[in-house]
Amino acid sequence: MPQYDYVVIGGGTAGSVIASRLTENPDVTVAVIEGGPSDIDRDDVLTLRRWMGLLGGDLDYDYPTTEQPRGNSHIRHSRAKVLGGCSSHNTLIAFKPLPSDWDEWAANGAEGWDAASMEPYFAKLRNNVVAVDEKDRNAIARDFVDAAQAALGVPRVEGFNKKPFKDGVGFFDLAYHPENNKRSSASVAYLHPHIEAGDRPNLTLMLETWAYKLELDGTRARGVHVRTKDGEELLVEAGREVLVCAGAVDTPRLLMHSGIGPRKDLEALGIEVVHDLPGVGENLLDHPESVIVWETNGPIPENSAMDSDAGLFVQRDPEFQGPDLMFHFYQIPFTDNPERLGYERPEHGVSMTPNIPKPKSRGRVYLTSKDPEVKPALDFRYFTDEDDYDGRTLVDGIKIAREIAKSEPLAHWLKREVCPGPEVTGDEELSEYARKVAHTVYHPAGTCRMGSSADELAVVSPDLTVRGLDGIRIADASVFPTMPAVNPMIGVLMVGEKCAELLTGSDVR
Ligand SMILES: Cc1cc2nc3c(=O)[nH]c(=O)nc-3n(C[C@H](O)[C@H](O)[C@H](O)COP(=O)(O)OP(=O)(O)OC[C@H]3O[C@@H](n4cnc5c(N)ncnc54)[C@H](O)[C@@H]3O)c2cc1C
Repeated sequence: MPQYDYVVIGGGTAGSVIASRLTENPDVTVAVIEGGPSDIDRDDVLTLRRWMGLLGGDLDYDYPTTEQPRGNSHIRHSRAKVLGGCSSHNTLIAFKPLPSDWDEWAANGAEGWDAASMEPYFAKLRNNVVAVDEKDRNAIARDFVDAAQAALGVPRVEGFNKKPFKDGVGFFDLAYHPENNKRSSASVAYLHPHIEAGDRPNLTLMLETWAYKLELDGTRARGVHVRTKDGEELLVEAGREVLVCAGAVDTPRLLMHSGIGPRKDLEALGIEVVHDLPGVGENLLDHPESVIVWETNGPIPENSAMDSDAGLFVQRDPEFQGPDLMFHFYQIPFTDNPERLGYERPEHGVSMTPNIPKPKSRGRVYLTSKDPEVKPALDFRYFTDEDDYDGRTLVDGIKIAREIAKSEPLAHWLKREVCPGPEVTGDEELSEYARKVAHTVYHPAGTCRMGSSADELAVVSPDLTVRGLDGIRIADASVFPTMPAVNPMIGVLMVGEKCAELLTGSDVR
């Protein structure tokens, strides 16, 4: 039976950070159980601009959603099955969560996770976070930035991470190496240097190995049962702690298959309840977005970092903390979802994607079978919030996008609005369109949320330990109590850094 001080389940975004930090101490041994293969020498993974080619492929767990009566039931949730996890699959847009995001966590019971306490972890990150390089700034994306500024009067932002903002338009910061478009994913930044130098004999990577059940001795986690690439079944033991970093879908999935979760649900499936924790799988969050597409007057230049290099934040409600509407600008016609409604993809085009920074609808991940091979169900309950805040945000977004499209210097590029089309103008029709073509930007989070001991649905305490158990913590996007207004990856990396600090007792300040 292999034994290590720490067993990290999931060599993804947070898991890579934790494994790297723990093995800085040569006396500490760490095993990483990772379901996917290595990303080393994989140009298809390491080249940022090839990200779309990974969706739905061999390196994607590709989770369907349940029927979404008010949304799009056809959304597939990409989750990466490769070292580096979703940071090896994603677009690497790199936003430090806003102070209001962290303070909201603290106000929701995550003591010690307020903005002032979290600031130092951003400085610790090893990823190469830089603004989209000049050579990658496409002419039409530049003109989108200028047109949005002209139409809405929002400030132009050069470096979104320099200071907190409530609105603004500009090119993103990305975690990448502009000279060769190589990712600066969690694995590239935190693991590759040590794999290449061979200077971490205390770090064992068990790749293409699936963790299917946690081993508990009473309330103490002892390790995890895994199946290796060759089909061998092993118990990998942790002398000190098990760290679950399998992401917002697979972390609650693993817990529930191990008998840790809502008693009633587990009993109904015939899973022996080891520890009744009603919050496991609840509070499923995401950033839904819709799309409006224009045909352009011919081809647009080719250069780009990853085809969605600029974006816009708007604050509609001055009382709101931070932005309450966001847009990605795609220099491609993103018609995958509208095509299902009969729209055609123009040969050349661009898209704006109104996105809800702080959606109010909450979903749930749950099991449908006791067989660990069966994918869990993801019910996001998109657009089900009582006041229809989420649906109305998308309608506002389409209207604002049209204002920008009418403004120069963007207007002269655009030949016609393809979808929803200029004839769709009423709020109800716009809402129907926006919800039916809604997509995800792949930000599931919150399914093992952090909270105080008074919060019955909290799964982990502010020190990331699983409530009621010993020797086990969770560190990944599942611990988010609420969704940051910005893209979450940097927040996940900071969760990883903070978890490592909690484990090693080192102090970043
Ligand atoms: C296509 C796409 C685009 C995105 N774009 C952006 C963006 O531009 N900016 C941004 O901020 N965020 C973006 N995100 C979201 C962001 O990447 C994720 O929120 C973040 O990476 C999640 O990190 P994590 O550590 O929680 O999980 P992951 O990084 O998914 O890590 C989980 C790891 O665990 C492994 N694993 C899971 N279950 C098991 C098991 N049972 N046994 C063994 N291994 C297991 C997986 O293989 C994976 O490597 C995007 C995501 C996707 C998919």
